[in-house]
Amino acid sequence: HNHIDHATPEKVDAAIAAGDTHPHLPDYETFSAYQKAGGYAVLADLRANGDWEAVQDTILASGLRGLGGAGFPSGKKWGFVRGNPGPRYLAVNGDEGEPGTFKDRFYLERQPHLFLEGMLIAAWAVEAETCFIYMRDEYPAVLQILRREIKALEDAGIVAPGYIDLRRGAGAYICGEESAMIESIEGKRGIPRHRPPFVAQVGVFGRPTLVHNVETLLWVARISREGPEVLSSTEKNGRTGLRSYSVSGRVAHPGVYLLPAGSTITDIIDAAGGMAEGHVFKAYQPGGPSSGLLPASINDVPLDFDTLQPLGTFIGSAAVVVLSDQDRARDAALNMLRFFEDESCGQCTPCRVGCEKAVKLMQADAWDQPLLTDLCTAMADASICGLGQAAPNPIKLVMTHFPDEVDGSA
Ligand code: SF4
Repeated sequence: HNHIDHATPEKVDAAIAAGDTHPHLPDYETFSAYQKAGGYAVLADLRANGDWEAVQDTILASGLRGLGGAGFPSGKKWGFVRGNPGPRYLAVNGDEGEPGTFKDRFYLERQPHLFLEGMLIAAWAVEAETCFIYMRDEYPAVLQILRREIKALEDAGIVAPGYIDLRRGAGAYICGEESAMIESIEGKRGIPRHRPPFVAQVGVFGRPTLVHNVETLLWVARISREGPEVLSSTEKNGRTGLRSYSVSGRVAHPGVYLLPAGSTITDIIDAAGGMAEGHVFKAYQPGGPSSGLLPASINDVPLDFDTLQPLGTFIGSAAVVVLSDQDRARDAALNMLRFFEDESCGQCTPCRVGCEKAVKLMQADAWDQPLLTDLCTAMADASICGLGQAAPNPIKLVMTHFPDEVDGSA
């Protein structure tokens, strides 16, 4: 889908102001096509005589977990939010800023209504008064599609005008952290909040808020329609369910691959057509830069929630980046830390100063490993949010798995 890459937010805004459509809008399933294929029937049914706890049981039975990266069981979240008195809100995290992650965009540019129906089912389940969609502004085609299709839902009487409030992010990675996103929705600077209280208790404008990732909601729609088996019937390597891996780097065919949750890096590279010509597999980022890097020799571990903890990493948003013999792991790690240095919100010292210090130390031919290790501990232990807590992962994993790159011998 490279043809949409040339559309900048400025171009889109100019086009909208001129009453035009997006200059490079991809083909996607429109409201009428989706409805003709049976779309929104489940929502109508539930609104007429549904039992939210029955839907929650179905979601729990499917094993659906939050696909933004945290992996919290989705059905349980509904219970927490419902447990707090209304009015309640729903907020969709569409700020897909994790480098290497593009699955939400992939789905939204193809099946926006599957996501929208899932969102409205979740909103119905927690009796949300408003649905906020926080969408990253770097996805101009997605924004245009959503504007159009939300209007179609309003015109069809499926939602009241204004019920879905589409908000544009402004390019800050930290606004993908759910409490920072909520600050941003409220019109403030996006900085993470301390917890507790959790957003299920005190979220948007102080109200109990259900926060879901885009892909999670797409699965809510599918599970509600097709039953929990749509996820729970796939088993591989002792893992249940499916994962949308965003695969990039030195593979023949980068893209989004929907594979069993028990897939290993070998399966994922195979799905992406193998290594790019002339490249030998060396290392991989299993799930976003916070997950750091693993060596090619660790190739039999399912890339799923919970399976990577013993290795000091995690699957996160399932953004897999493949490196080859033509890359250095230390360069990739430095790039990751530079990203964190840029994107740190600056609220707490271990992260703000730690990222900057790490970037300086990582530029030495031979790393000062004892000092970097101390720095990693301070950052992981004392940072407020996941950015600063996980930023040391690339450093630690390079020292563990690629020692010859950083001991000054190479
Ligand atoms: Fe901000 Fe970093 Fe602290 Fe998170 S860890 S609150 S991004 S300074």
